[in-house]
Amino acid sequence: MCKICSKCGKVKEFVDFSTDKRATDGRKSECKQCHNLYNRTKRNYNWISCLSDEYIKSKLTRTGFTTKQINDNPELIELRRNLIILRRTIWQTLKM
Ligand SMILES: [Zn+2]
Repeated sequence: MCKICSKCGKVKEFVDFSTDKRATDGRKSECKQCHNLYNRTKRNYNWISCLSDEYIKSKLTRTGFTTKQINDNPELIELRRNLIILRRTIWQTLKM
């Protein structure tokens, strides 16, 4: 049995689709590959959006920076944010 994925449009084997009790044919409309990709981007989006300026500022003050120093050097926030993204990217790559 084959089925067309609603996301990538490719014809795939039935086993390439996750089971879904609500679906009429018992399988999800998108293939496992597309589903995983979607979940991964959603997770990445969530953690990037939680990196607000306020969050970064609290991180910086905890590592010894004063609010004045941060306000005088706004690039500190951008640098700290990049550091967090870099660390998480490395961590995620190692986990894969
Ligand atoms: Zn697909």
